Amino acid sequence: MKNELLHYTMQNEYIDKVRKISYSFFLMHGVKPKYYTHTFGCQQNESDTEKINGMLSDMGYIQTDLRDDADFILYNTCAVREHAENRVFGTIGALTQIKREKPDVIIAFCGCMMQRSDISEELKKKYRHIDIVFGPQAIGRFPENLYKALSSKQRVFDVINENGAITEDIPVKRASRYKAWVSIMYGCNNFCSYCIVPYVRGRERSRDPEMIIDEVSNLVADGYKDITLLGQNVNSFSNDTNNNWNFAKLLRRLNDIDGDFRIRFMTSHPKDATPELIDTIASCSKICNHLHLPFQSGSNRILELMNRKYTREKYLQLVEYAKNSIPDLVLTSDVIVGFPTETKEDFEQTLSLINEVDFQGLYTFIYSIRQGTPAASMEQIDETIKHERFEQLCSLQNIKAKTFNSKYIGKTLRILVEGFSNNDKNMQTGRTDGNIIVNFPMCEAKPGEFINVKIESALNWALFGQAVKQDNI
Ligand code: SF4
Repeated sequence: MKNELLHYTMQNEYIDKVRKISYSFFLMHGVKPKYYTHTFGCQQNESDTEKINGMLSDMGYIQTDLRDDADFILYNTCAVREHAENRVFGTIGALTQIKREKPDVIIAFCGCMMQRSDISEELKKKYRHIDIVFGPQAIGRFPENLYKALSSKQRVFDVINENGAITEDIPVKRASRYKAWVSIMYGCNNFCSYCIVPYVRGRERSRDPEMIIDEVSNLVADGYKDITLLGQNVNSFSNDTNNNWNFAKLLRRLNDIDGDFRIRFMTSHPKDATPELIDTIASCSKICNHLHLPFQSGSNRILELMNRKYTREKYLQLVEYAKNSIPDLVLTSDVIVGFPTETKEDFEQTLSLINEVDFQGLYTFIYSIRQGTPAASMEQIDETIKHERFEQLCSLQNIKAKTFNSKYIGKTLRILVEGFSNNDKNMQTGRTDGNIIVNFPMCEAKPGEFINVKIESALNWALFGQAVKQDNI
């Protein structure tokens, strides 16, 4: 089986037409048209927005941080949580005034939330100030959709549920000069019962491995130091093709690229994480010793209702194998509290799994209904109970994380400098190979450089230390 491969250049006709419109704008106003983009949701959305920014720059637009100053406004939305959707509707309302004052501004919404037919229909009928709506599978047609909106003043809705091709060579305007996202596959086949992703991002489609290797090689040549491979379930990379690749093989090939850089990846589904993958992480020096392995619940009964296709015992076996194989392994995970029918005993199983594994970090979520998923029609539990359990779980994890982080006190860690700490402008910040935040007093190190930091103290969310010279280690 081969995925349908499209190229950005197939949009050349529309790219040229938009460039002409941008140039006319420049001649008339003396400045290029400006774009403003905002991303809700996950890293995949961040990565998609970087592609949209790249296409806009390629078509003659310049970026602005001021929404009210922009000629093109885009929000990339997320459908995973109800809270994120509510924020999007708040934003849509606020844009009415901008459109009233600047009728020529183009307002676009894209992302997973737009792929839901109930939402796109609502936008079509009720929110006439929105010009373009497109789903994640239509990113490759962005120049065409933008041209249609600019030239015809017609509203454009491109949310057809299709099997989804892969568009290569889209120009990317990366937010960072040393950290990069690289999508290796799109979509998901797993249908976890609480999750909307397979319905909005389509079935799994893996990119050609050689194209991924080329992209990473070019990033390394351009000075990128920390590259995160993205996919809803990277462990099933290439399962949708007839080639003889798998994710471990891809990691080994990326590890062979010359240069001083790190490779990370997310997300790993435990049902597809193999000993081969773990052995590969252990043996490849450029693959980070960090495994984000979402367990979601410690109760077998809930895991079955979630359609996760592994048991608590299998998960723990995998973790044990990984801990024994990878020295200094940092494990992080996702967990959902308050899944339909979750009992006190189920929840206690989750707490006991957290106690047993010693995660460095947990992304904790209170279950929220996603209409259209099987879990939405299961028996829901009381909101107060959900919140009580959530608090209990967070308290436990805070203690566990502080204990985990404290074991680094007195050690010297190699970190990639990222910039200034958000909390204290006299401090710089960076991340370890295990993705742990490290703060240290200002030194000469610049963002994008690797330095060594001797750790002096630890909190549950970060380590603190002093930069040390190589010869003082
Ligand atoms: S693996 Fe499950 S939770 Fe993750 S995107 Fe696919 S369906 Fe959603």
